[in-house]
This record gives sequence, structure tokens and C-alpha cells, in this order.
Amino acid sequence: MDKNEALAVLADVQRKLFAFNAASSSLYLDGVTVAPKDTSEGRGVAQGVLAGEQHKLMTDPALAEALAVLEGCRDELTLLQRRQAEELGRAVKQLTRIPAEEYMEYAMLTNEASDVWHRAKEASGFEMFRPCLEKLVAFNRKFAGYYDPDKAPYDALLDEYERGVDMAQLDGFFAALREKLVPLIRAIGEKPQPDDSFLHRHYPAEAQRRFSDYLMEVLDLDRTHCGIGETEHPFTLEFTNKDVRITTNYKEDDVSSSMYSVIHEGGHARYELDITDDVQYTCLAGGVSMGVHESQSRFYENIIGRSRPFVEAIFPKMKEFFPEQLGDVTAEQFWRAVNKVEPSLIRTEADELTYCLHVMVRYEIEKALISGTLEVKDVPETWNRLYKEYLGVDVPDDRRGCLQDSHWSGGSFGYFPSYALGSAYGAQMLRNMEKDMDVWGPVGRGDLSQVTAWLTEKVHKFGGLKTPAQIVENACGVFDPTAYTDYLTKKYTEIYGL
Ligand code: ZN
Repeated sequence: MDKNEALAVLADVQRKLFAFNAASSSLYLDGVTVAPKDTSEGRGVAQGVLAGEQHKLMTDPALAEALAVLEGCRDELTLLQRRQAEELGRAVKQLTRIPAEEYMEYAMLTNEASDVWHRAKEASGFEMFRPCLEKLVAFNRKFAGYYDPDKAPYDALLDEYERGVDMAQLDGFFAALREKLVPLIRAIGEKPQPDDSFLHRHYPAEAQRRFSDYLMEVLDLDRTHCGIGETEHPFTLEFTNKDVRITTNYKEDDVSSSMYSVIHEGGHARYELDITDDVQYTCLAGGVSMGVHESQSRFYENIIGRSRPFVEAIFPKMKEFFPEQLGDVTAEQFWRAVNKVEPSLIRTEADELTYCLHVMVRYEIEKALISGTLEVKDVPETWNRLYKEYLGVDVPDDRRGCLQDSHWSGGSFGYFPSYALGSAYGAQMLRNMEKDMDVWGPVGRGDLSQVTAWLTEKVHKFGGLKTPAQIVENACGVFDPTAYTDYLTKKYTEIYGL
């Protein structure tokens, strides 16, 4: 096989993988949006077949040969070709490094664990889930050795989710957060809270749907390329850079819930839509990593969406959608209400400031579990102690404590830190953006085009052409958590008059 033949094999495999992915995503999207309730069986069978075909493609000896040929003539490849070969080669290795019997056993375990976790959460009983979690931790410690025997186990797992990130970096990051944010949250606790009762008046879903259309316009999401649907948990799904879907969930007693979901998912969509045509139908299509993706969604949601200039820009229009509900409310009152800080129990409902402390609790526990310094049976006690220490809240039961998230039951260890890192990357991007241009003048007129142009140039357009670390370097420079703690300190000092 020569170079050109190898490139042809690579292109062919990637187009087929794209097609299988697109089919699988369509089935998923249908299942969570419009499919009737008792129709999942056939889709499950189809998904199984598609997964099998994908596996066959990835383990085809012709692909292995093509990758070896390309590895041999690496220096003659264009950047686009080289990155495809690297990423596909990595994916093939990932697929084959766990022995097949162990992989099967693990798949059965996660399947069972998901079910047991649901029941344990409902019953609020950690003991029910404990045996599963013990097995999951043991498997992941073992897998970490397959992934990279030279790394500490938790470092090997972290690298799976956000390549290049390790405990050395995260320890410094979370220490900075702990030092700056815990006292800030305490100080806010001494101050009177803004009135946010008007957010909870009755906001009919129909009016909220029209408001979502408007928000998508503000984000410049072209409706001929980006659809919006409704699901229990909002998400973004991309087929190509010309076909992206977001979803939201309307709560009639909380207008800010869907509003910020649409802006958050809209940020994910913005990223996908701005990726270059060059990488479409290859393994480099789509956002580069979960941390970088969250940096974009949270940038639009929090840094822009909860800023005073943005709220002031859209508020007059918002009053037209909700004249009765917001008739007696000012833009400033609204801005304060959507930035209310309230240490709470549930991560997914946390405000911008306390959010990363929820992630920090999970990081510390995961790190200790995988390193073997914490036993699974001691998770609830450790969880409750850390919530008290960082957030000042008492955890009343496991349902609202260590059983609240599904990640561990799915076998994900090392995934959580990306949520906090994404926020920190965003703050550092803002710092650099402010050096390059006037950010807040145009945002204050409801014009996000320059913000989006900056992010497209530094982050979006590359897709997987650069690695996550290269993207962060490109948009942030050397990672510096003080950009994030400074941003939060400045913002909340103003809001709470500290
Ligand atoms: Zn997100």
C-alpha cells in the first residue's frame, strides 16, 4: 500500500464512520424528542448493529496497514492528513488496549451499575450502590494501567477526557479556587440577597419559545442550519458544521432556566457551526474536547449572558415577550437576580460562583479513590464533610449528596474537572479578548458578532486540527487560574457591594 492508497483508505473509513455516527445520533435524537413512549426496542437493536459495524471498521486490518504506512511517511503529510492519521490511530489503540473479556465484563457492570444507581438514588441509600462503585473503581484503576502504565492511575484517566491535563495542574488550579473563592462565598453570605421573586412568576411556555427564537437570533444562530427542540435535559448534538441541534426545557415558574440553557447550548452550537469545512466528514470534525467545548458554552452563558451590558441590551426586548411578568422590573434588578449566589446541594443547579466548588469536591474524592487513599465505604462521609467545608451546606441525604450525579455509575472517573477548567479557560480568553478589542461596547448594543469572530479565530475554526492543549495555548496563553478567580472576585464584589 502506498501513501495515496493509504490516504484513500483513511478517507473512506472516516466517511463511513461519519455515516454510522449520523445514523446513531438521529436515532438518539428521535428517541429523546418526538418518538412515542414505548418505541425504544427497535432503536436499541439498530444502535447495537451500528456500534458493531463501527467496531469492525476501526479494527479492519486495512486501516491498521494504512495507518502504519502514513506513520512511515509522516513528514510528507499535510497538517490535515497528519492530524487525521494521529487521531484515528489513537482511537484504534484506545479501542483495542483493554482485553476483550474485561471489556465485556465492564460493559455489563456499567449497564447494571446505571440501574442500581437509579434505584439507590431514589431510595437515597449509598449502601445499595457501594458494591457496584467498588467494582467500578477497581476496574478503572486497572484500565489506567492499560492506558498509560507510566502515569499515576488518576493522571492516566484524566488524560482520557482532557488530553494533557494532570493532577499537578489541577491541584494548583483547585488550590487557587479554594483560597480565593471560599472566603468570597462566606463574605457574600453575610450580605442581603437580591430579590429574584419575579423570575418565578408564571411564564407560559409558548411565550418562552418565542423568546428562545429571539435569543438564537442574538447569538446569530442561523435557523436554516441550527434547530431547537425540547428535552428533559438540554443538550447540543452536531451532525456537521451545517447541521446542529440544540434542546431546552421550559419551566413555567422560572424564566431564567430555559433562557440560560438556550444561551449555553447556543454557545456549544456556535462552536460547531464555526468549524472549518476542511475537517468535515473526518475524525477532526466537531469540538476538540469537552473542556474546550464547555469553555465556549459557559463563555456565552455566564461571561456574556450574565453580564450587565448584555442584560441591559436585551431587556427591553424581553419585556415585550413578558410584559405582565416584567413590567415592574428594571434591567438592573434582572441582572442582579440572575447572578444571585446561593451555596446549594445540587451541582447542576449551582450558580456561576459556587459551581466550581461542586466540581472540586468530586475531584478530591475521585483522586483519592483512584489513588487508593480513600475507601468507597467512606465516600458519603467525605462528601458531606467537604460540602460543609467549601460550601457551608449540610447534606441531608445521599440522594442530594454523593448519589446525585450519574457519571460514576457510567464508569466516568476524571471527567468532572473539565467542567471547572472550561470556566477558567473562558475567563482567561476574556482577559485576552479585552486586550485585543472593545468587548463590552458592542455587547451592550446586543451585538455579539465581534466576540464570536474572536472566538472563531482563536478556538472554533480549528475543530481537531489542533490538540486541546494547543487550542488553550492559542486562546489563553499559559494557563493561569488567577484570570478566573480575578474575574469572579471583581464581578461579585460589584454585585454584592463587598
Ligand atoms: Zn455544556
